[in-house]
Amino acid sequence: MTETCRFCKLARKEDSMSLIYEDDKVMAFLDNRPLSEGHTLVAPKKHYEYIYDVPDDEVGYLFQTVKKVAIAVKKSMKADGITIAQNNGRASGQIIFHVHVHIIPRYEGRPPSRPYEVADKQDLDEVAKRIRYAL
Ligand SMILES: [Zn+2]
Repeated sequence: MTETCRFCKLARKEDSMSLIYEDDKVMAFLDNRPLSEGHTLVAPKKHYEYIYDVPDDEVGYLFQTVKKVAIAVKKSMKADGITIAQNNGRASGQIIFHVHVHIIPRYEGRPPSRPYEVADKQDLDEVAKRIRYAL
């Protein structure tokens, strides 16, 4: 199953992403269908379908990374707030069955927009660069 998993392919560098952060355990990259500019995903490099499957120490490290990246996203995107979301199962809206956490910049009086529109890769790379600079 990990052979065909999109996020495992990213972890193995078989597919390109607008990378924000990575180490041997986790990776953070931009969602290519952003709900707002700077919408970032943080995922373990190892394949787990749901949060229930992730060992405690790994889930702890994953969320430490989420916090670190969320601060950089908020700062670089000048967001008023940040929504952090994590979906498990089709009923919750999970689309990619490899655990990941959404970091979504939010602004006063502005609901998230442009759902499900694939963003331009060059635009994403520019945004990723801004966020990386704030890390
Ligand atoms: Zn995977």
